[in-house]
Amino acid sequence: LTSWNFKQQKTVIDLGDGVKVGGPELTVMAGPCSVENRDQIIETAKIVKAGGAQILRGGAFKPRTSPYSFQGLGEEGLKLMAEAREETGLKIVTELMDVEHIDVVCKYTDIIQIGARNMQNYSLLKEIGKLDKPVMLKRGMAATIKEWLLAAEYVMNNGNHDVILCERGVRTFGEETRNTMDLSSIPLVQQLSHLPVIADPSHGTGRWELVTPVARAAVAVGADGIMVEVHPDPQNALSDGPQSLKPKNFQLMMDEINAISKSL
Ligand code: PEP
Ligand code: MN
Repeated sequence: LTSWNFKQQKTVIDLGDGVKVGGPELTVMAGPCSVENRDQIIETAKIVKAGGAQILRGGAFKPRTSPYSFQGLGEEGLKLMAEAREETGLKIVTELMDVEHIDVVCKYTDIIQIGARNMQNYSLLKEIGKLDKPVMLKRGMAATIKEWLLAAEYVMNNGNHDVILCERGVRTFGEETRNTMDLSSIPLVQQLSHLPVIADPSHGTGRWELVTPVARAAVAVGADGIMVEVHPDPQNALSDGPQSLKPKNFQLMMDEINAISKSL
């Protein structure tokens, strides 16, 4: 179902109000790693809207490596995301971690994010396959391209064909970056599949100074969009501060990727 054999036209997911994922224009999803409080999410939403993003990202149910780290605000965070949508007109994307939260997440979000850690959670994939809601499926941190596309098949095979793929880097042996951003997967997946592919240089690198250069490269290799973490005060972020762009740097990134996108 993911292949060009099944469908000869590129999948374009229309979220309404002129927001599309899959072209022809670049789609930008930006916002904090986690929703922390009202001021933080509203302020960030206004910043990314002004910079030209179409979609606000923000986690309310967080898959943290340590159980002692901030786990997210849960439904309270989703309500704040919805408030930010009201305020700015941005669409929203947020992570769903568990089948038990399907109803509450769907009540608020425009796109369901399935995180890297859940890419092979087949019971979750089957359940979201039954929904009428776009899904962004992040690549597992040790997943091959084949495994990633087969995960998308699990969703589509159950009826939901509105799947967006997101390359977020894979685990290799170095310690200088959080993950190794696999830029080659973007054109490769586009050769194999009609689904839109988004690049996440924030989790792909783990370092804010690398986010903009890698975002430029991702656009140059043909990504349909970029997901990027932005925080008004990265040093005090409750998660992923070191990879979050400050507002000014987000604006610079936008200028650069828009220039590259236009030149393609
Ligand atoms: C995230 O987008 O905040 C996230 C947890 O990403 P990943 O699942 O790619 O680690
Ligand atoms: Mn994050």
